[in-house]
Amino acid sequence: MSWEKVGRDGKLLRWYDVMEVEKYEYTVGPAGEQFFNGLKQNKIIGSKCPKCGKVFVPARLYCEECFIKIENYVEIDANEVYVDSYTIIYKDDEGNKLQNPVYIALIRFKNAKGGLLCYADGNVRPGAKAKIVSFDWPLKVKVD
Ligand SMILES: [Zn+2]
Repeated sequence: MSWEKVGRDGKLLRWYDVMEVEKYEYTVGPAGEQFFNGLKQNKIIGSKCPKCGKVFVPARLYCEECFIKIENYVEIDANEVYVDSYTIIYKDDEGNKLQNPVYIALIRFKNAKGGLLCYADGNVRPGAKAKIVSFDWPLKVKVD
Protein backbone atom coordinates (compact mmCIF):
# COMPACT_ATOMS: atom_id res chain seq x y z
CA MET A 1 0.00 0.00 0.00
CA SER A 2 1.24 3.45 -0.72
CA TRP A 3 -0.03 6.95 -0.45
CA GLU A 4 1.33 10.09 -1.96
CA LYS A 5 0.16 13.65 -1.71
CA VAL A 6 1.69 17.00 -2.46
CA GLY A 7 1.79 18.98 0.78
CA ARG A 8 1.03 22.67 1.13
CA ASP A 9 4.67 23.58 1.26
CA GLY A 10 5.27 21.78 -2.04
CA LYS A 11 7.09 18.85 -0.49
CA LEU A 12 5.93 15.41 -1.40
CA LEU A 13 4.48 13.50 1.55
CA ARG A 14 4.93 9.74 1.31
CA TRP A 15 3.90 6.74 3.26
CA TYR A 16 4.73 3.24 2.13
CA ASP A 17 3.69 0.10 3.90
CA VAL A 18 3.35 -3.61 3.37
CA MET A 19 0.22 -5.36 4.52
CA GLU A 20 1.28 -8.66 5.98
CA VAL A 21 -2.04 -9.78 7.39
CA GLU A 22 -4.61 -11.84 5.57
CA LYS A 23 -7.51 -10.92 7.77
CA TYR A 24 -8.76 -7.89 9.62
CA GLU A 25 -11.20 -7.70 12.46
CA TYR A 26 -13.28 -4.59 12.91
CA THR A 27 -15.59 -3.74 15.75
CA VAL A 28 -19.10 -3.06 14.55
CA GLY A 29 -19.66 -0.03 16.81
CA PRO A 30 -22.81 0.84 18.79
CA ALA A 31 -25.15 1.12 15.78
CA GLY A 32 -23.67 -1.97 14.13
CA GLU A 33 -24.20 -3.88 17.38
CA GLN A 34 -27.90 -3.00 17.27
CA PHE A 35 -28.07 -4.10 13.64
CA PHE A 36 -26.27 -7.43 14.10
CA ASN A 37 -28.12 -8.26 17.31
CA GLY A 38 -31.32 -7.67 15.34
CA LEU A 39 -30.23 -10.18 12.70
CA LYS A 40 -29.89 -12.80 15.46
CA GLN A 41 -33.62 -12.29 16.09
CA ASN A 42 -34.48 -12.30 12.35
CA LYS A 43 -35.00 -8.54 12.41
CA ILE A 44 -33.61 -5.74 10.30
CA ILE A 45 -32.69 -2.84 12.58
CA GLY A 46 -32.25 0.67 11.28
CA SER A 47 -31.81 4.00 12.99
CA LYS A 48 -34.14 6.99 12.76
CA CYS A 49 -32.90 10.57 12.84
CA PRO A 50 -34.71 12.57 15.55
CA LYS A 51 -34.50 15.75 13.46
CA CYS A 52 -35.37 14.85 9.85
CA GLY A 53 -37.04 11.48 10.50
CA LYS A 54 -35.01 9.62 7.88
CA VAL A 55 -34.46 5.94 8.57
CA PHE A 56 -31.11 4.37 7.74
CA VAL A 57 -30.35 0.70 7.04
CA PRO A 58 -28.16 -0.69 8.40
CA ALA A 59 -28.43 1.32 11.59
CA ARG A 60 -25.90 4.10 11.78
CA LEU A 61 -24.80 6.47 14.50
CA TYR A 62 -25.09 9.80 12.69
CA CYS A 63 -27.53 11.32 10.23
CA GLU A 64 -25.74 12.15 7.01
CA GLU A 65 -28.24 14.92 6.30
CA CYS A 66 -28.41 16.67 9.71
CA PHE A 67 -24.97 15.69 11.08
CA ILE A 68 -26.46 14.79 14.44
CA LYS A 69 -26.15 11.68 16.57
CA ILE A 70 -28.89 9.05 16.25
CA GLU A 71 -29.81 6.92 19.25
CA ASN A 72 -33.24 5.82 18.10
CA TYR A 73 -33.27 2.30 16.64
CA VAL A 74 -36.26 0.99 14.73
CA GLU A 75 -37.27 -2.34 13.23
CA ILE A 76 -37.56 -2.23 9.46
CA ASP A 77 -40.39 -4.00 7.65
CA ALA A 78 -38.51 -6.99 6.22
CA ASN A 79 -41.45 -7.76 3.94
CA GLU A 80 -40.90 -4.60 1.89
CA VAL A 81 -37.64 -5.59 0.22
CA TYR A 82 -36.63 -5.03 -3.38
CA VAL A 83 -33.54 -5.54 -5.51
CA ASP A 84 -31.78 -2.30 -6.39
CA SER A 85 -28.95 -3.80 -8.42
CA TYR A 86 -26.95 -7.00 -8.64
CA THR A 87 -23.84 -8.65 -9.99
CA ILE A 88 -23.01 -12.22 -10.95
CA ILE A 89 -19.84 -13.99 -9.87
CA TYR A 90 -18.58 -16.71 -12.18
CA LYS A 91 -15.16 -17.46 -10.66
CA ASP A 92 -13.83 -18.09 -7.17
CA ASP A 93 -10.95 -16.20 -5.54
CA GLU A 94 -8.47 -18.49 -7.28
CA GLY A 95 -9.94 -17.78 -10.72
CA ASN A 96 -11.57 -21.20 -11.03
CA LYS A 97 -14.92 -21.29 -12.75
CA LEU A 98 -17.77 -21.87 -10.30
CA GLN A 99 -20.13 -24.76 -10.92
CA ASN A 100 -23.05 -22.34 -10.51
CA PRO A 101 -22.80 -18.56 -10.76
CA VAL A 102 -23.40 -16.63 -7.53
CA TYR A 103 -25.77 -13.65 -7.53
CA ILE A 104 -24.97 -10.78 -5.18
CA ALA A 105 -27.77 -8.22 -4.85
CA LEU A 106 -28.04 -4.83 -3.24
CA ILE A 107 -31.41 -4.89 -1.52
CA ARG A 108 -33.25 -1.86 -0.24
CA PHE A 109 -36.22 -1.35 2.05
CA LYS A 110 -39.32 0.77 1.63
CA ASN A 111 -39.04 4.18 3.34
CA ALA A 112 -35.41 3.66 4.36
CA LYS A 113 -32.09 4.97 3.10
CA GLY A 114 -29.21 2.61 2.49
CA GLY A 115 -29.26 -1.06 1.70
CA LEU A 116 -27.61 -4.41 2.23
CA LEU A 117 -25.55 -6.68 0.01
CA CYS A 118 -26.73 -10.27 0.10
CA TYR A 119 -26.76 -13.55 -1.76
CA ALA A 120 -29.72 -13.74 -4.10
CA ASP A 121 -31.58 -16.56 -5.74
CA GLY A 122 -34.47 -16.64 -8.20
CA ASN A 123 -35.25 -14.26 -11.04
CA VAL A 124 -32.83 -11.57 -9.87
CA ARG A 125 -33.42 -8.23 -11.59
CA PRO A 126 -33.55 -4.55 -10.60
CA GLY A 127 -36.83 -3.55 -8.97
CA ALA A 128 -37.92 -7.13 -8.23
CA LYS A 129 -39.55 -7.87 -4.89
CA ALA A 130 -37.40 -10.08 -2.66
CA LYS A 131 -37.89 -12.06 0.52
CA ILE A 132 -35.19 -12.56 3.13
CA VAL A 133 -34.82 -16.32 3.56
CA SER A 134 -31.81 -16.27 5.88
CA PHE A 135 -30.80 -13.62 8.40
CA ASP A 136 -27.38 -15.22 8.91
CA TRP A 137 -24.70 -12.84 7.71
CA PRO A 138 -24.45 -12.36 4.79
CA LEU A 139 -28.19 -12.38 4.24
CA LYS A 140 -29.82 -14.54 1.60
CA VAL A 141 -32.86 -13.45 -0.38
CA LYS A 142 -35.25 -15.18 -2.74
CA VAL A 143 -36.40 -12.98 -5.60
CA ASP A 144 -39.89 -13.41 -7.04
ZN1 LIG B 1 -31.47 13.82 9.93
